[in-house]
This record gives sequence, C-alpha cells and structure tokens, in this order.
Amino acid sequence: MTKGTLSKRGHKRTGNRFTIWGGSLLAIGLGTSCGDYEPDSTPESTAHGPNVLLIVVDTLRRDHLSCYGHQSNTSPAIDALARKSVVYTRAYAQAPWTTPSIGALLSSRYPTSLGIKGDQSTLAPELLLLPEVLQDAGYNTAAVVSHSFCSARWGFAQGFDAFDETNVQGHGAVTSRGVTDQGLAFLKSQDDESNPWFLWLHYFDPHCAYVEHERPSARPDSYEGLVESGQLYRELWQARRDLNSEDYAELRRLYDSEIRHTDANIGRVLEQLEQSGDLDDTIIIFTADHGEEFGDHGSIGHARTLYEELIGVPLIAHIPGVPPSVIHQPVALIDVYPTILNTLGLTPPPGIEGRDIRPDSKDLESPRVIFSETNRGGRLRAAISGNLKLIARGRFGQLTAFELDNDPTESTPINAQQNPAALALAPVLAQWWERVQAEALPEQTIQLTGDERSQLEQLGYGGNQEQAPRRRKRKD
Ligand SMILES: [Zn+2]
Repeated sequence: MTKGTLSKRGHKRTGNRFTIWGGSLLAIGLGTSCGDYEPDSTPESTAHGPNVLLIVVDTLRRDHLSCYGHQSNTSPAIDALARKSVVYTRAYAQAPWTTPSIGALLSSRYPTSLGIKGDQSTLAPELLLLPEVLQDAGYNTAAVVSHSFCSARWGFAQGFDAFDETNVQGHGAVTSRGVTDQGLAFLKSQDDESNPWFLWLHYFDPHCAYVEHERPSARPDSYEGLVESGQLYRELWQARRDLNSEDYAELRRLYDSEIRHTDANIGRVLEQLEQSGDLDDTIIIFTADHGEEFGDHGSIGHARTLYEELIGVPLIAHIPGVPPSVIHQPVALIDVYPTILNTLGLTPPPGIEGRDIRPDSKDLESPRVIFSETNRGGRLRAAISGNLKLIARGRFGQLTAFELDNDPTESTPINAQQNPAALALAPVLAQWWERVQAEALPEQTIQLTGDERSQLEQLGYGGNQEQAPRRRKRKD
C-alpha cells in the first residue's frame, strides 16, 4: 500500500458545534488534506442511527473484571453490559502503553506503521481515524479523555467536533466522575439533534497511583507492608524488589478499588442510555488500552513486556440486533474500527489492518496472526496465532514461545527452536516487522513542557527509572 491510502479527503467540519456542552470544550480546528479515500456516503445524507459509544479504561487488565472470572466483585455495571453483549475472551492490545495502543485502535494500524516510538510521538494528521470516518458520515462526534497521551496535543482530537480534556489531571487525581459528567452533558446536548452521535469516553483511575475507594473490600487490619493508597509510581518502582506477596495483594486490592469506582461511573452512563431508551439503538464497545503487572513476571506497571497481563484486554461489544455470545478466538483492538463501520454499513477505508469480528462474520473464522509491540525496556514484538505466542527481543536474536492453553500465565516458555509451530511463526513475525517498518509514517513529535514531563514521570513514563533505586525499607 502507499501512504496515500492513509490520507483523508478535504471536506472536514471544524470547530465545536456543541455550545451547550459546558465551558471547558476545546474547539478543534484541523487542517485539511488531500487523499484518495471517498467514503460511500456524503455528510448528513446517511446520518441515521445507531449511535456509537466507545469506552476505553486505561490500564485495565482483563482478569480483574468479575465478568472475566475475577473473584472480587469489581465490575457490576460492566458485567450487566456483558450479559447483553458479545464478550471476547482473548482480545489483544497492539501495544502495552497508551499512545500506540489507542492510536492502533482509532486507526486500525500497528504502532510502528503509525510512526509512534516514544513519549513525544503523536498521531500523524494524515491518518484517517475512526472518528473522522464517522464525522464524514454525518455523526456528531465527541471525546472525553483523561490522560495527556491521548489528548489533542498528541494528535487524538482528529475527527472530533468536540474534545474535552478537563480530566487530564495527572497521577493522584480521581477523574472517573468527571469523565462521566462530561459524557452525560454531551448526551444531553444530543437530545434535540437529528444526527446520530459517536462518543469516546476514556477513563484513567485504574492507572497508578492506586487510590483507595470504599469498595469492593477494606484494607486488612493485619497488613503493615510497603504499599499505601495514592503512592506515586516512582516510589513503588523503587520498592519493587522488596515487595512481597502481601504487598502485591494490597496493590491488587487498591487496583480493584479503582476499577470498582470506575465501573460505578461507567454504570451512570449506561443507566442514562437505558432510561432514555437509546441503549437499544447504540453500539457500545467497552475495552482497555492495556493491562497492568503486579509481580506476574517480576515487575510492576506496564509498557515494558508483552505478557498477557499487559496486552490481554477486555473487549465487550453491544451491537443492536446481535444476541449475546462469547467468542474465544483471538481478536485485536485494531478490529474495533472495521467492526463498527461494517455494522453501520460503511465501507472501511483501504490500508486498515483489522477485521470485522461480529459473531457471524466470515473474517472471524479465517486463520490469522495478531501482533503486538513495544519499544520500552528494549524492543519487543509478539505474534499470537491460536494458542501459540512468540515474543522476539532485539534483532530477533532471542525468541520466547508460550503455549497459552497449557500455560496461560506464561510461566514456562517452550523451546521455540524445537517447536515446529513456533519455528513457522518466527518468519511471519519477522516479515510483519519488515512490512510495518517499510510502511511507517515519519515519526511526528511534540516538545514536552516542564509540566507535561513531570506529570509523565510521576505516572511512570519518561525519566530514568532504571537508575539505582532509593529503596524504601520494610518495617521490622
Ligand atoms: Zn494507558
């Protein structure tokens, strides 16, 4: 393919049309560019339902939701949505950190081909993002985000008539309520609109710092370890080699508390849709950009490995007219884009990498390999095919393979050099890597302000976390 197929055509609506949606809106004026993709619709002409709600929870590992088998009751509202929806048990993020993962979701392309390399990489303006296609098809489009890595500065406002980032508040802030309030205000602004809407809500609370909320469980009286509510990531990182199983249990309890709090606020949005009668006419995609590690492979946080706890994400699709079901085939976040467009009867643009994963889609049955990648903590690329996962490090010198059906926690690698399936997958991974590098858009970067840099460092990005840690000592 050529880069031209990524381009968007020139007629773009700009600016904010939702004047009643609070005073905090950023009016986005985007430039126009030429391209060769013409959606099979003209603005306003196909503007009939259903609405589309995309919910992305930052840093939400799949196995901490009750509907994915977690023991603690973290997610009553999401569980209720899951009961009405298609639930994907093996969805993969294309990267284990925010910018490349959500960039891949919104573009249906892999991070390397997007030119995303590090903290300062932004989404290129010539990409044709899902909200742009929907905007062109006559949708009113709005986003509420709560992390700078998916903010307007990082290129994520493309295609949104209105883009709210008042909840980008850094590490210690609890923002789920604010995200929902903005989302509900947008929904209210749509009461008298004849066009359908596309709303993207991005929640951030499960990301470190983990702040204690009332539920689902209280701190055990017996716990006297190193972990406290609201600790900075930097502090936890420095203590990571001293964390014991009780500390990890406490981290997970605080994390669960953030999930439950987020769930309650997502529940407020779902309840509003139910009450207004819009639920039956709304596609709802619920997912996460990546997971989080709590000592699963000897560390904490995310971005540095491609194990299941980081790239295994929840994916729940409520599609009007499609009965609830459970899908066990591996699927990917790049699939969200074509799945939504196909459901709406819109033709996905050329050059996208995802598939239509609705339960009756032929695409779902055909064999595929899903890829994921990161540049942080070393260059890692992974290929997932059926139950086999192959991870390559550096210049493909080191290959690690896991049979996920026998070893879902990836505790015991198989010998990739002696396994025929792993040996067959290795060149597929290498060829994919060659291709996405050849297709890559040039990296576009922003200069971080001092505030942005310190906020990101507190969240665990940037800076140099590998330096000699200032250890926090356990009380004896
Ligand atoms: Zn994230």
